[in-house]
Amino acid sequence: MEDIISANQVFKTFGSISVLKGVSLGIKKGEVVSIVGPSGAGKSTLLQILGTLDRADKGDVIILKTPVSSLKDKKLSEFRNQNIGFIFQFHHLMPEFTALENVCMPAFIAGLNKNEAAPRAKLLLDKLGLAERLDHKPTALSGGEQQRVAVARALMNNPEIIFADEPSGNLDTKTATELHQLFFKLRDELGITFVIVTHNELLAQMSDRVLMMKDGLLIANQDK
Ligand code: ADP
Ligand code: MG
Repeated sequence: MEDIISANQVFKTFGSISVLKGVSLGIKKGEVVSIVGPSGAGKSTLLQILGTLDRADKGDVIILKTPVSSLKDKKLSEFRNQNIGFIFQFHHLMPEFTALENVCMPAFIAGLNKNEAAPRAKLLLDKLGLAERLDHKPTALSGGEQQRVAVARALMNNPEIIFADEPSGNLDTKTATELHQLFFKLRDELGITFVIVTHNELLAQMSDRVLMMKDGLLIANQDK
């Protein structure tokens, strides 16, 4: 099967610090891949570049057969909006908006209005057990609920790939496990590919594959 994500000799420098020193990888559709390694290894930088939120200094990134490095900013934003979802350690929901509005946001960016976007947002929130929380602002939700709203938002535009950066880093063990199980369910039901930076050993163990990073390089690529 062809890779849905591929990186070839990706380099990234911030000032005088060389953060990625030639990272190459390939990820197949429907895989759940964990990226692990010590703090400062370059995991978040790699995830941001694979997720098209940042650009490599050198090297190629190909997502869904699209050489994203060659897309101009506007096309790249459109590509990201249509194909990629993100989940971060801190939910990054917008505090002044309700759960429903936050989930609608990727559809608003794609040009839909509230009447067009709300039914799918409601469906997703319902599916994630949040039907009673549509009108709650993020501060009125628990940590686990906030992350499930973030998952619903990530799913809003029906992405092929979800990138998650320490998504359970801020949750208690039970809530973290529930979130991890949700990822596998979404992979099984929708075929979504997950690339997850995590310090959670249980999540890494459950993954199809673990990529280990150290000092700007991938040092191990364990198949299960
Ligand atoms: P990890 O996620 O593995 O902890 P990061 O990718 O966040 O590592 O960071 C790797 C290194 O790059 C760190 O030394 C960090 O300080 C540096 N770094 C990351 N982003 C930036 C940035 N925007 N500007 C300057 N340095 C950065
Ligand atoms: Mg990080």
